[in-house]
Amino acid sequence: MLQLPRSMDSLYDFPFSDLEDSLRSEGIKAVHAQEIYRSLYKKGGKLAPGAQRWIAARKPPEMTIVKDLASSDGYTRKFLLRFADGKEIETVLMGYRGRYTACISSQVGCAMGCVFCATGKMGFTRHLTAGEMVAQIQFLNNHLATEGKEPLRNVVMMGMGEPLHNFKELMKGLAVISDPRGIGIAPSRISISTVGHIPGIQKLAEAGKGYELSVSLHGASNQERSALIPINKRWPIEDLLDACRAYSEKTERKVLIAWTLIEGANDSDDHATRLAELLKGRQVHVNLIPLNPTEGFDGQPPSEERVLEFQRIIKATAGIPVTVRQRRGIDVGAGCGQLAG
Ligand code: SAH
Ligand code: SF4
Repeated sequence: MLQLPRSMDSLYDFPFSDLEDSLRSEGIKAVHAQEIYRSLYKKGGKLAPGAQRWIAARKPPEMTIVKDLASSDGYTRKFLLRFADGKEIETVLMGYRGRYTACISSQVGCAMGCVFCATGKMGFTRHLTAGEMVAQIQFLNNHLATEGKEPLRNVVMMGMGEPLHNFKELMKGLAVISDPRGIGIAPSRISISTVGHIPGIQKLAEAGKGYELSVSLHGASNQERSALIPINKRWPIEDLLDACRAYSEKTERKVLIAWTLIEGANDSDDHATRLAELLKGRQVHVNLIPLNPTEGFDGQPPSEERVLEFQRIIKATAGIPVTVRQRRGIDVGAGCGQLAG
C-alpha cells in the first residue's frame, strides 16, 4: 500500500537513510536518494520520474526575510527570518577573507534563562525542526552564490536557543548538513555550543559524529555560575566537566570552553586562577568572549588590557590554549547573546 508523506516533513527533513526509507515506503527505488540529494543540495543533475514525484510532494520550510542588516565593517550580516507560523529567528553570516561561517538558530527563544543573554530573556517559544535548521544553511549558501562567493565553510550552532535541548532535530539537521552527498560541511567544521546540557552532551558522545563541542562555562564555582546560568543548579560544574572529559575521550578532540567576560563579575585575576585550576590537565581550549551589550542586563565588558591579562593568567597557570573571540557584528546586534528578533 502506498503511504502518503507525513505533511509535517519538509523537503529538508530527511537524513540520507530516512530519505531511502521514505522512497521505499512510497514504492520508489531507494537508489534515487542520491540524485534527490544532488538536486536539493548541489543544484544539479537529472531526476528519474519517481524522484521528481517524491520532490514534488514536498516543500522546503517556508521562510521570509524580515530584516537584512550588514555590519559597518562588512564582515557580518544578520537576517531576521520568519516561518509560516509567524515565528521569527535570526541567522548570522560571518565572512572573513573568503571564508564563511553560519551561526544557526536551533529554537525560537530559549528555556535556559541565562541572565546576560537576549535570547534567554525572550523565554522559550518552540523548537526548530531539522528542516528549519537546514533551511538556514540553504538560505545562506544561496545568498553567497548570488554574490559570487564561496559556499559556507563552517557552521556554529550558536544562534538562538540551546541546541542540545532540541537533540533529535539537531542530529537530523546536522546529518543533512554534514552529508558529503549533500551540503557536505564536515563534522569537524561544525560546532555545537551548549549551556552545559549534560544529558545532551552524553548523547552527543554516544552518537560519535565528531562535531566540535563548545561549553559555555562563565563561572568557576557553582555559586558564581548559578548566578549567571540558573540551569547550573541542575547540571553543576563537576558533573559538567566529567561529561566534557567523556566527550573528548570519545571523540579524541578538545572541548572548547567558552567564557563570557563580564566586568566585576568573572574577570578578576582570582577568577582566572580558579578557572585555570579547574581546567588544568584537561583536553580543553578556552575561548574568551567579552560581554556584548544586551537590553535588560547592565553588565559591561572588561577593558582590553583586562581581557589580555585574564588570558595570560590561564595560559601561565594551566598551560592550555586560550583565544579571544573576535567581536564582530555588534553594531547590528549580531554578536553572541544579542539575538532576539
Ligand atoms: N545556548 C547555547 C548557544 C547559544 S549562545 C549556549 O549557551 O552555549 C552562544 C554563546 O553566546 C554562549 O557561549 C553564550 O554564553 C554566549 N553569550 C550569551 N549572551 C552573551 C552576551 N551578552 N555577550 C557575550 N556572549 C554571550
Ligand atoms: Fe539560551 Fe544560550 Fe542564551 Fe543561555 S546563553 S539563554 S542557553 S541561548
